[in-house]
Amino acid sequence: MMILIVGGGWSGLAAAIRLIDNGHDVHLIEAAPQLGGRARTVAWQGIPVDNGQHLMIGAYRHMLGLLEHIGVDTHQVFARSPVNLSIHDPNYPTLTLSAKGKLPWPLSVAASLSRSAGISALFAMRRIQKQIPMRLQSQQDISVADWLQQTKQPARLIHQLWEPLCLATLNTPINDASAQLFARVLQDSLMQGEKAADLLIPTLPLGDILPLPTSQYLDQKGATTSLKTRVAKLDIQQGKIHGVQTHDGHIIEAEHVIVATCPTHLSNLLSPHIDLPTPDTLPISTIYLQYPAASRLGQPMLGMTGTHSQWIFDRSQQHPGLMAIVISGPGEHETLNKAALINIVSQEVHQLFPHLPAQAQSGFIIREKRATFASTVGIQQHRPSHKTNIEGLWLAGDFVSNNYPATLEGAIISGQACAQQLTNI
Ligand SMILES: Cc1cc2nc3c(=O)[nH]c(=O)nc-3n(C[C@H](O)[C@H](O)[C@H](O)COP(=O)(O)OP(=O)(O)OC[C@H]3O[C@@H](n4cnc5c(N)ncnc54)[C@H](O)[C@@H]3O)c2cc1C
Repeated sequence: MMILIVGGGWSGLAAAIRLIDNGHDVHLIEAAPQLGGRARTVAWQGIPVDNGQHLMIGAYRHMLGLLEHIGVDTHQVFARSPVNLSIHDPNYPTLTLSAKGKLPWPLSVAASLSRSAGISALFAMRRIQKQIPMRLQSQQDISVADWLQQTKQPARLIHQLWEPLCLATLNTPINDASAQLFARVLQDSLMQGEKAADLLIPTLPLGDILPLPTSQYLDQKGATTSLKTRVAKLDIQQGKIHGVQTHDGHIIEAEHVIVATCPTHLSNLLSPHIDLPTPDTLPISTIYLQYPAASRLGQPMLGMTGTHSQWIFDRSQQHPGLMAIVISGPGEHETLNKAALINIVSQEVHQLFPHLPAQAQSGFIIREKRATFASTVGIQQHRPSHKTNIEGLWLAGDFVSNNYPATLEGAIISGQACAQQLTNI
């Protein structure tokens, strides 16, 4: 059975692997010159960097399983370390969340907070941990800000821990973010044993982690991949899909088509046939700063609050002296031009980590304006399922039928589940 997959992001790649393993003929169609979608490699002054700094965690078991399945050694492609997050602020002492200590998990992680933020922080974290099951089961979603109020979180903890964690995981400010999705992230990262909370920082450019090995895997198994090929139209007649039309007018026939694009492109392609909700989208900016080759951060990553910069990652394993600074969500930084933003971020980094020079040797910004869908209150009710009411037309992608915010793990779960449902018909 010939199956077309529209979109070579991590969901489309996961679907393609599952389908070819199940004995189907697969044709993967990607508009861009390379695979990877929102998690891809780009070049900067001859260095391969990512379109945006990504962080994975130990709880990403579908991602890790998929990589091992296609022969990628996950110990090689990620620097894995137990959670040990220091969050620096110009106006507060540094706050630390870590796995260290003699107490059993997850009490240990709550207790670690008390060392930097006092005993009240420990109790506040325990109140959140205890309420996670209730938030997951509740029929009524509320905002993360309201949940933090209900559980009486101290202002400092909101500012220096919950706000940055919510932005980092949901890419959505706490006043708008879904407490249900945030509870899911906390459940899978903080409550499943300390290995699930491990930080996995890529040691290679993202394109070399899943997209390139998948392309080789699919080639070996006889799949077809067409790059630089945009699907312009779906060929749907009498409630059944017959194939697609590409940007240059070619018709590609197929009994089944999986559309695995980002939610905005999904709605555009489907709009003549299905009325799909288009979620709001939010930006992520990554600022790469190149320091002298011997420069190191001292930790794989560190948090920053009270500044435009939110997280800084040491990418020296990929290129000596390279740091990536991430700013999630909307904000004033969006109005700054490149030179101004590089200058501000360099100053902020220098102020909090004076061993890094005030001026980097060079800087580069990638602004992904539609990085993720907004994980807003009630969003779970608006996410479409894989199967559509058009025969042979299927949907995949981080927004589709998923308990996660926009993540690589969510994209992979969605691609695999879609392929499996299609195989089972
Ligand atoms: C800057 C940034 C930082 C992020 N950080 C993290 C992080 O730290 N951790 C994490 O887990 N996740 C993170 N994410 C989210 C993660 O990257 C996405 O959730 C995931 O990549 C989405 O994959 P996808 O396959 O669903 O969609 P996409 O990656 O958007 O793939 C869709 C593909 O479809 C193609 N396409 C679109 N229209 C057509 C068409 N008409 N014809 C053919 N092809 C088409 C596109 O070119 C694209 O390649 C981040 C995202 C960004 C942008």
